[in-house]
Amino acid sequence: MSTLEQPPPLEHVDEDWERALCIVAHPDDIEYGGAAAVARWTGQGKWVGYTMVTSGEAGIDGMEPDQCRTVREAEEVESARIVGVDSVDFLHQPDGILEYGVALRRVLCAEIRRHRPDIVITGNFRDTFGGRNLNQADHIATGKAVLDAVRDAGNRWVFPEQVADGLEPWGGVKAVWAFGSPDSTHGIDTTETFEKGVESLQAHKAYIDGLGWADFDPREFLEGLGRQTGQRLGVAFAAPFEVFPMGWGE
Ligand SMILES: [Zn+2]
Repeated sequence: MSTLEQPPPLEHVDEDWERALCIVAHPDDIEYGGAAAVARWTGQGKWVGYTMVTSGEAGIDGMEPDQCRTVREAEEVESARIVGVDSVDFLHQPDGILEYGVALRRVLCAEIRRHRPDIVITGNFRDTFGGRNLNQADHIATGKAVLDAVRDAGNRWVFPEQVADGLEPWGGVKAVWAFGSPDSTHGIDTTETFEKGVESLQAHKAYIDGLGWADFDPREFLEGLGRQTGQRLGVAFAAPFEVFPMGWGE
């Protein structure tokens, strides 16, 4: 697509659901533009839970992973609280070197069986964020494993040891939504909850300071992203999602 072309309009995501589980690779993945959408939904009385596959412990160059893990988990819990999320699980998989495969599907499947969501939200897992901005390996591994784990969760003969341990199969996930995908087809209006999203990203203070981007301004960043998507949805600010229906015949 040339930069002169207008990106195509987005459809509104379905809001006819009660429970959503956000499964992402790192603390802060949701806060880079998705948290305002979460605030909208918790404000409607929906339940939203967060699952962090890693604790982002390899994310700050000047901080040892053991210390970093504690700092980033605390920042994520605070980010979540700001947007009305009080369930934050950390799966403690290794940051930076996640592998797509059965082992990852197993831990994600257990999360889905435990929380029984209608919608599962993950981050962009396409190869790029659009153009030549390459995606990161953990994001790709997580998103692919999330799609599989949603189907695994409904099959009692896949990871049957979880069922034997008392986790019932859960086949109720209607769709997986990938936030920030360059192939986004849908969006959600985040105009009313935009400020909550900014606050939620600002809560990652140690991480943002650790990046050493002297002039990174969370508000400016989120405004740019939100406005661009908002234009495609016909609102001031919006968050983009690629939607994968999980039922048949859709
Ligand atoms: Zn990340």
